[in-house]
Amino acid sequence: MLDKVLIANRGEIALRILRACKELGIKTVAVHSVADRDLMHVRLSDEAVCIGPAPSSKSYLNIPALISAAEVTDSVGIHPGYGFLAESATFAEQVERSGFTFIGPSADVIRLMGDKVSAIAAMKKAGVPTVPGSDGPLPEDTGELFAIANRIGYPVIIKAAAGGGGRGMRVVHSEAHLLNAIQVTRSEAGAAFGDDTLYMEKFLERPRHVEIQVLADGQGNAIHLYDRDCSMQRRHQKVVEEAPAPMIDEEARQKVFKSCVDACIHIGYRGAGTFEFLYEDGNFYFIEMNTRVQVEHPVTEAITGVDIVKEQLRIASGMPLSYKQEDIKVRGHAFECRINAEDPKTFMPCPGKVTHFHAPGGNGVRVDSHLYDGYTVPPHYDSLIAKLITHGEDRATALARMKNALEEVLIDGIRTNIPLHAEIVRDSNFRNGGVNIHYLEKKLGL
Ligand code: ADP
Repeated sequence: MLDKVLIANRGEIALRILRACKELGIKTVAVHSVADRDLMHVRLSDEAVCIGPAPSSKSYLNIPALISAAEVTDSVGIHPGYGFLAESATFAEQVERSGFTFIGPSADVIRLMGDKVSAIAAMKKAGVPTVPGSDGPLPEDTGELFAIANRIGYPVIIKAAAGGGGRGMRVVHSEAHLLNAIQVTRSEAGAAFGDDTLYMEKFLERPRHVEIQVLADGQGNAIHLYDRDCSMQRRHQKVVEEAPAPMIDEEARQKVFKSCVDACIHIGYRGAGTFEFLYEDGNFYFIEMNTRVQVEHPVTEAITGVDIVKEQLRIASGMPLSYKQEDIKVRGHAFECRINAEDPKTFMPCPGKVTHFHAPGGNGVRVDSHLYDGYTVPPHYDSLIAKLITHGEDRATALARMKNALEEVLIDGIRTNIPLHAEIVRDSNFRNGGVNIHYLEKKLGL
């Protein structure tokens, strides 16, 4: 087992990783910016190193500072969490070159999956269902462009190969708008990602977001941990997630599970990962793979009993998977509400001092949060401050527990989106399950 792990992240996920390390007897090193001295995991870690000023570009994204911190503390492994450098092939490469273990897949696999054109090509080859599309980068020739769009059929979506976070995409409804949309997206992509490679896909009008969690040990073993539905989104940001995904065609589901596991073997995947799909009319369409632990991993942990972060640490230590596919059974249903420090109506970030924090409790309730009484949420980072996770023997029970948890939780001093979550859990269509990715924005009148 890795002897000492540096946690290259902050907030709730840093605390989540710290807890897993402690359970496995791994020593922990917290790194933090000047603004984050008072983070909960910094207090609980064996060692802590300040890696730079508040802006993440000078701290959590500062590769030399992170590697130096690993060197001075004699760390063995580096866990990137999610966000920041978690999907940077350059970071993974530099970590390994400096003699440390990157807790995640190889830099080559991160690079392959980070470029959406190469990711889609690899997935097609492995038998994963993809969205009908250009099958490669868009050419310059206008005649060819029209031909591709006609073959796919309007509406189409123009996407940047290097895009991420819902940026670098444009929907085109008719031929008249095609060339202009391509031109604008190309220049945006070049400016934002330093790579203006584009591709084209069929635009699905009312899909759900359904994703498959996988674990692979890089020694020839891979399993899936079933699916999650993350269709409740605002501006491509997930708000509520659940596992398993409700009302999915069982045959399509089993087929897609198998294709994801096969793809892990095919690309030589190692660690925890997620295959993201759009799901419409009983069909799955691959959109991207996340080569890291995800925010919503606890709903999968709730229904399968697998500790995903501990598995990441074991795999990075060179151990084979602790589970075989037949060991993984779904028990009940789970929901996660992402609590953000933001105005529930305008969605403007609301950093500041949390004068009082009371976590909900009871059977089937989990709270992943770095909050405590008197903690000040800094303005520099993501506004996620807590995740409420509830589990029950069925969907209705998990939902009833979430309603209770939202009534019990108390975060005083700052505004949060708890009122929005309270409204969502009362919504009859959400309660019935299976709403599409546009549902929340429509409900909010956006
Ligand atoms: P990013 O890496 O920026 O998150 P994705 O490729 O995952 O980009 O797409 C983000 C979101 O955009 C999806 O969750 C979905 O809401 C929408 N989207 C992407 N591709 C399509 C498509 N072909 N049809 C309809 N919506 C799409």
